[in-house]
Amino acid sequence: MTYTPPIRDHAFLLGEVLEIDRYANLPGFADASMELVTQILEEAGKFTSQVLAPLNAVGDKVGCTWNPDHTVTTPPGFKEAYAALVAAGWPALGADPAYGGQGLPHVVNLAFSEMSSSANMAFSMYPGLTHGAYSAILNGGSDAQKQLYLPRLASGQWGGTMNLTEPHCGTDLGLLRTKAVPQGDGSYRISGQKIWISGGEHDLAQNIVHLVLARIEGAPAGTRGISLFIVPKLIPDAQGEPGARNSVFCAGLEEKMGIHGNATCVIQHEESTGWLVGEENRGLALMFVMMNEARIGVGLQGVAQAEAAYQAAAAFARDRLQGRSLSGPKNPEGPADPIIVHPDIRRMLMDSRAVIEGGRAFLFWTALQGDLAHGSPDEDVRRKAGDYMALLTPVVKGYLTDRAFRVCSDALQVQGGAGFTEHLPASQYLRDCRIALIYEGANGVQALDLVGRKLAAEGGRAVMTFFAEVDAFVETHKEDEALTPFVTGLAEAKGQLQDATMWLMHNGLANPDNAGAASTDYMHLFGLTALAYMWARMAQVAQGKIAAGSADPFYASKLTVGRYYMERVLPDAGAHLAKLKTGAATLMALPAEAF
Ligand SMILES: Cc1cc2nc3c(=O)[nH]c(=O)nc-3n(C[C@H](O)[C@H](O)[C@H](O)COP(=O)(O)OP(=O)(O)OC[C@H]3O[C@@H](n4cnc5c(N)ncnc54)[C@H](O)[C@@H]3O)c2cc1C
Repeated sequence: MTYTPPIRDHAFLLGEVLEIDRYANLPGFADASMELVTQILEEAGKFTSQVLAPLNAVGDKVGCTWNPDHTVTTPPGFKEAYAALVAAGWPALGADPAYGGQGLPHVVNLAFSEMSSSANMAFSMYPGLTHGAYSAILNGGSDAQKQLYLPRLASGQWGGTMNLTEPHCGTDLGLLRTKAVPQGDGSYRISGQKIWISGGEHDLAQNIVHLVLARIEGAPAGTRGISLFIVPKLIPDAQGEPGARNSVFCAGLEEKMGIHGNATCVIQHEESTGWLVGEENRGLALMFVMMNEARIGVGLQGVAQAEAAYQAAAAFARDRLQGRSLSGPKNPEGPADPIIVHPDIRRMLMDSRAVIEGGRAFLFWTALQGDLAHGSPDEDVRRKAGDYMALLTPVVKGYLTDRAFRVCSDALQVQGGAGFTEHLPASQYLRDCRIALIYEGANGVQALDLVGRKLAAEGGRAVMTFFAEVDAFVETHKEDEALTPFVTGLAEAKGQLQDATMWLMHNGLANPDNAGAASTDYMHLFGLTALAYMWARMAQVAQGKIAAGSADPFYASKLTVGRYYMERVLPDAGAHLAKLKTGAATLMALPAEAF
């Protein structure tokens, strides 16, 4: 597999569209000059393409092995690559300097995460989950817990996991049964089975820190009785070194469709020793604080797989000779033209680029809201960014992964029968990408979160702010002829989204099934509109550069792909609006036994 990190696109977004130099008043940003960020992008590109990408296929083919002593062996090369990752300090890039991190903005760290996930999604999940455990302890842990665990998690010396799911309890965490019994010395004995735990056991790190949701004996039923615990595999001794073996075991690995290089474990807590994080019965609230970050991470996995799949498809389309161009031979000396001359192949490649580049901009913009929400000294800025994070996260996760999977499927289609064989990586990208639509809350549940919770929060403040921001952009640029296709398309999509929002307010309240029936179409309509806004902003920057005399073909390509988005992707918005307005009546009409 060859993977070319999209360094130019990352630098364009960070430096020219989001202009991160403007945010020197935020923690970490003063140190993140574009000069430094460009160096980081280049180093990240080298590490991910030279160290991680070559292991992607072996990870898929060999996978992880469970051993009878409850250990797990990762695919050949993973251990050495992980040691190199830690030695180079990559896991610590965005972590707090108080705990040994480099304190760079989340939005900069996102570029490394995307490259790492494109190069090797299964591998990149080990540090990804570790970062999740780090964030949970940072948000809710005591000072002593932070001092003990955070530096080791930030560096990647220790790994982390999230133990939520149980055999009978996936989406509905209120059903959770794992039990915690206080021991009177501040610790708890934890019993129960967790399933599908990513990175639950492996041979990469010195220790594994499980973040476990469990119900303390006597706690209320449902979601209000769930607490969060730290359960280290090796209990740290007085010096903080890995000590006695805790009674938490990997009882087996899941056979699965993709991400074979990542160990998906059954984790057995047999009276394991755990320590409460934060207050009793506040476990879910603590988890939700870090859920936004994790969901953006999954949206990113989608875009990352789409990028890698697209690159392979584009390379194939330039080489493969089949048929002649409809408008006359383009390779008259050869036996046939490369398939990239065919409009239908172009359709798939252009669809893919329009979604990847627009989706990447949407991811980076949303991640910047996270940095602003946490770090801005201005309360109004923090509130607006926090509103945006909450509103947009389900769209980033649900819409981008739904579309990314289609990109991976189109990339395979471009490669014909060869794409379907295991000689080429197309099938692995498609298989690996598929899980992103399911975990961290399946996409249907993201859509429900958007229409059920996020839209109505604070009287609809977040969505109204988004509409006002788009209106202001349209107003400012409506006279600019060079931007007409972008401004017109954006204004129309925003009108449709507003129409759908009004429809939901009237019809969703009257009958909640209407909201449920509309939710996925609404999420897609929102995603299409958000990407239209991103494309309009990117076009404005690219147009400005061209007007100022730049002959860099990057800007001309940006405008072309952006125009394609407006002409051939955005019109789906109208179909989503029409579908969602039909409501729940027909959709819910058949009795369950008719299925
Ligand atoms: C490879 C892999 C790795 C994973 N890693 C982890 C991990 O590290 N830690 C962890 O704790 N878990 C992990 N999971 C579990 C994952 O988070 C769950 O699979 C996910 O939350 C969905 O739960 P479920 O599979 O039980 O689906 P279910 O809850 O059974 O849902 C099935 C379907 O019904 C839909 N649905 C459910 N409820 C509703 C509703 N109220 N309204 C509308 N639709 C609904 C869902 O959208 C879904 O499409 C992993 C799973 C896999 C496969």
